Amino acid sequence: MTIYNDSLKSYTSTLLPKGFLLHGFGTKALSDFPQHIPHKLWISMNQVHETHIQHINTLPDNVGTLQLDQSDGVSTFLRDVLLTVKTGDCIAALYYDRKTQLIAISHQGWKGVLAHMSEKMIEHMRNLGSDPSDINVIMGPSIGHCCNRFSKPELRLFMEEFPADADRIIIPYADGEHLDTRTLTYLQCIKAGIQEKNFDTFSCCTKCMSDTFWSHRGGTYQSTDVNRVGWNFIMKIS
Ligand SMILES: [Zn+2]
Repeated sequence: MTIYNDSLKSYTSTLLPKGFLLHGFGTKALSDFPQHIPHKLWISMNQVHETHIQHINTLPDNVGTLQLDQSDGVSTFLRDVLLTVKTGDCIAALYYDRKTQLIAISHQGWKGVLAHMSEKMIEHMRNLGSDPSDINVIMGPSIGHCCNRFSKPELRLFMEEFPADADRIIIPYADGEHLDTRTLTYLQCIKAGIQEKNFDTFSCCTKCMSDTFWSHRGGTYQSTDVNRVGWNFIMKIS
């Protein structure tokens, strides 16, 4: 279940433990991020809509921020390392291994979903010692199929890549066919071994709720405007 945290101006999930983890999917009300969150290192990524994932295992000396190049996913065992992705319709997903206490975050728009981003993140965590049955996954707010009309050539890519799921992810609407990247992300997580009870989702559409969330499709600004994005984050607190 997701609930609003007024002090963080973000939505959080009851599936992630309080006190030990700080996490959230930021709303438009979240400003000056991340100054109000005490941390030793802030990790952001330039997010290139691919599936490269990095692992942070040491704190660099005298550096408080790090932007990872050519990356859409990052993990760490370290405390006080703030893992972040920015979104404005794309999906942000948070991952937490209850046993090894590995945390991770990923960004996936339709290209990342097509390229199996969540499955790749879970595989990345397996390589770091995780058993998928110990991992909780939280999917943040993103554009819903209600507002996600796609062209035929793009939809064909999904039909070819996910033939068994095509009926569940391509939805007919009066104005054409729409794509359900949220259901597909859920299906990818289940296929990768995540248990249904360990998956939580914020099932609202960012465009329909563009008064609450930043939405590229719902806004009039340029997608390159870095101040008009939602910040999503996870950190282990020391
Ligand atoms: Zn919508």
